[in-house]
Amino acid sequence: METIEKFRLDTRDWLIANCPESQRQPIIKDQQIWGGRRRSFYCEDAKLWFERMRDRGWTAPSWPTQYGGGGMSSEQAKILDQEMKALGCRPALYDIGLWMFGPALLEYGTEEQKQEHIPKIVRGEIRWAQGYSEPSAGSDLASLKTRAEDKGDHFLVNGTKMWTTQGDKSDWIFCLVRTDNDAPKQQGISFLLIDMATEGVLARPMELINGDLEFCQTFFDDVKVPKNNLVGKLNEGWSVAKALLKYERNMMSIMSSIVEKEEGDIVAIAKHYVGLDSSGKLANNSLRSQLTEHLMRAQGDALNALRLYQQHKSGVVDGGLGLTLKYLSTSEQQHKDELLLAIMGNRGLSWHDPIFSKSEKKTVKNWAYNKAHTIAGGTSEIQLNIIAKKALQLPS
Ligand SMILES: Cc1cc2nc3c(=O)[nH]c(=O)nc-3n(C[C@H](O)[C@H](O)[C@H](O)COP(=O)(O)OP(=O)(O)OC[C@H]3O[C@@H](n4cnc5c(N)ncnc54)[C@H](O)[C@@H]3O)c2cc1C
Repeated sequence: METIEKFRLDTRDWLIANCPESQRQPIIKDQQIWGGRRRSFYCEDAKLWFERMRDRGWTAPSWPTQYGGGGMSSEQAKILDQEMKALGCRPALYDIGLWMFGPALLEYGTEEQKQEHIPKIVRGEIRWAQGYSEPSAGSDLASLKTRAEDKGDHFLVNGTKMWTTQGDKSDWIFCLVRTDNDAPKQQGISFLLIDMATEGVLARPMELINGDLEFCQTFFDDVKVPKNNLVGKLNEGWSVAKALLKYERNMMSIMSSIVEKEEGDIVAIAKHYVGLDSSGKLANNSLRSQLTEHLMRAQGDALNALRLYQQHKSGVVDGGLGLTLKYLSTSEQQHKDELLLAIMGNRGLSWHDPIFSKSEKKTVKNWAYNKAHTIAGGTSEIQLNIIAKKALQLPS
């Protein structure tokens, strides 16, 4: 049997031989490769890298091979991840299906559903959106009103979903729908998969404060959905929803701690804008302490993210860690954004004016956008309530 050390060496050799040089640079948002029917590549190298990873099932290294995944053990997947990081290889594919929906479907889906949907996620053929929130159901998600009526051979869906990330660019959406109006709130909800090309589905983009059009309001108007698109049992979708939210929170805490930050090294930025004193230190005592505190907290979050990631790979997860880390890492990103603006002084005041550099404008836009991180996947206030109850076992 292949030893784990040989596996590491073979993996490293393969990555060196197959990952183009241009795909070993820190990733920037505009160059991420998202899956889907409208998938596109900004350059040939990105396409090649994606196809090579896809063909080995390494876009989803630990998913079973019968669904197109890499079939790796948790230890092997960890090694692949370590080797990719060491060589600076970019993730070959980005998709909500990979991070959130796929893991939940592997847990709750029927064999037929797994055969149908999992390989398309691995191969980046279908892009998934999340249809949970509604105009009056965010934190209190169980009060959702989008309804699916049983029409014999299909469900008829009517209602609207809010904040659907990239809804207009997605192919399918997993939705929470009300299937029993009389049952207590959480017990009348089902988990339904809807092809967004179905007649009656409309995803309308909304402009954010930073000018991005990343979110949609999604409308369902007499949408016919086949019965076999129900995941889990009728009226028991809340369990699937909760499992998926767990994957979402973990993804958010890991991403905000270890993804490459576009704004670059904050110490170098501070030196550039604030300058150095005669002893070569940053010429602002108070800023120096704030920066040190930020760097210490960020390092703590990064180490905890690594711990969480490794717990996932080993299959023994401390639920409290994911809950706490999502709260801490998203708050820390916002501290960093505030600090960056303070460092930049009056250079951090605009995002339109041509007298400001591209990176200055981008930093200000990121500051505005990153406010969303303490809202998405459950707000910080809700997160603190959950930590109090589940991680600390405090009375409600
Ligand atoms: C970047 C981003 C991406 C998103 N993507 C998606 C997506 O793809 N699909 C999707 O379905 N949804 C998505 N959402 C929606 C997200 O899940 C909701 O915004 C979130 O759950 C909060 O709901 P809400 O916006 O309705 O706020 P509300 O629930 O109305 O909350 C408003 C304020 O009241 C506070 N609050 C509410 N209840 C309590 C309480 N019990 N105790 C203390 N404070 C409370 C909240 O913390 C918040 O500060 C996304 C949101 C963001 C920001």
